[in-house]
Amino acid sequence: MDSITDISKSLFSNRSDIMGQAALALIEKKYGHLLEQKHCQCPICDKQIKARPQKVKRKIETLIGPVELERPYFYCVKCGFGFYPLDYALGLSNRKTQSDIQELEAWLGAEMPYETAAETLERCAGVKVSNHHAHDVVNEVAEHIQLLDVCPDKSEIHAQIDAIAKNNFRRPVLMIGIDGAHAPTRPEPSPRKGKRGKGEWREVKGFRIYLIDNQNINHLISWHQIKTDKELTQDLLEIKQAGLIPEKKVRICVIGDGAPWIWNRIKEVYPNSKKVLDYYHCSEYLHDVANAQYGKNTQKAREWVEATLTRLFLNQADRIIAGMKRMKPNSDSAMEQINKTVKYLSDRKEMINYGSLKRGGYHIGSGGIESSNKFISNVRLKRSGAWWYPTNANNILKLRCAKYNKTFDRVMERSRKKLQQSKTEKRPQLRLIVDNS
Ligand SMILES: [Zn+2]
Repeated sequence: MDSITDISKSLFSNRSDIMGQAALALIEKKYGHLLEQKHCQCPICDKQIKARPQKVKRKIETLIGPVELERPYFYCVKCGFGFYPLDYALGLSNRKTQSDIQELEAWLGAEMPYETAAETLERCAGVKVSNHHAHDVVNEVAEHIQLLDVCPDKSEIHAQIDAIAKNNFRRPVLMIGIDGAHAPTRPEPSPRKGKRGKGEWREVKGFRIYLIDNQNINHLISWHQIKTDKELTQDLLEIKQAGLIPEKKVRICVIGDGAPWIWNRIKEVYPNSKKVLDYYHCSEYLHDVANAQYGKNTQKAREWVEATLTRLFLNQADRIIAGMKRMKPNSDSAMEQINKTVKYLSDRKEMINYGSLKRGGYHIGSGGIESSNKFISNVRLKRSGAWWYPTNANNILKLRCAKYNKTFDRVMERSRKKLQQSKTEKRPQLRLIVDNS
């Protein structure tokens, strides 16, 4: 006897016949006039032209299965331009697979290796694509995506801030975590065919912007790309200029490790923000001093670190630095470590008063940005044997940021529109033929 699994599988594998017919019926109902169209205006010169005697067949692939269209073709001799009005009306992709499949490919390809993505697509949706196809579609779709595309709208962000502000007497804290992670890359293919370039690790720089609501993180924006710190600053400026962050309604706090590029840049963008040196990076420095001075992991070393951290929480950064300057180094390496740390902390004195920062409701650990880094960048880019062209890695990162920021669907919709637009941009005088039923 057939089990429900057998019945379901059999229907699923035959669904394309059933659904394909249904799709055709819908197309006929909505676009019957375009299927039987005899005359059409040339979209370039407005001349009235006659359909070619033979309709032209085209098979497209959609999530509900293949659909075979047979539609009239028009050719304007004067303009040397041929077109299918039905294709424009349906917003058909130049590819055989249509955008519903492409969106799934982008979703899966951003999540897993292309081979697994293609396999998953076949298993779950019964659609067969090659891993090269998935690769090409991901890059095609993501190429046009820009920073503001993956950000939630201004109104959505402002609404979240207002909701938190309602329950608090102080302005909500908006954290901007900045950090880098490393990704395996290789040089982009050059037009001159040379030897395949050597792989190198490059920094994926990124930021995560979130709100603190009591103990919870309210995520707003993550953005990670392989780029220079100048370019990343430009991105932060773009967010600022787009007014996504209502600066008067929040207390902005930037957190990061000691990397100078972060702090040099943030001075340009948010000069008045609160700045925090990640607590764990700071305590690592102290551990290094203690280990060099008192012996690795000795009781004395542990006690010193604990006492020093406690004093940091009492906002005694100045006294800690002074105390370290008075230390009598037990060895050359201890002296080196002490001097290094004194310099490091002196340069960042305002950023390590952890006690008052905590009382102010700010985060003192950069876990927020680090998890974003791990989830968005490392999980997908760091795979054994994978060496990425930076452009392709950035494309994947854009899609992953969109997912993380919950803007993926909107990004796909806009990207579809942009692709349609780019068709007309190539022929600026072309006016798209739309449904005129
Ligand atoms: Zn024409």
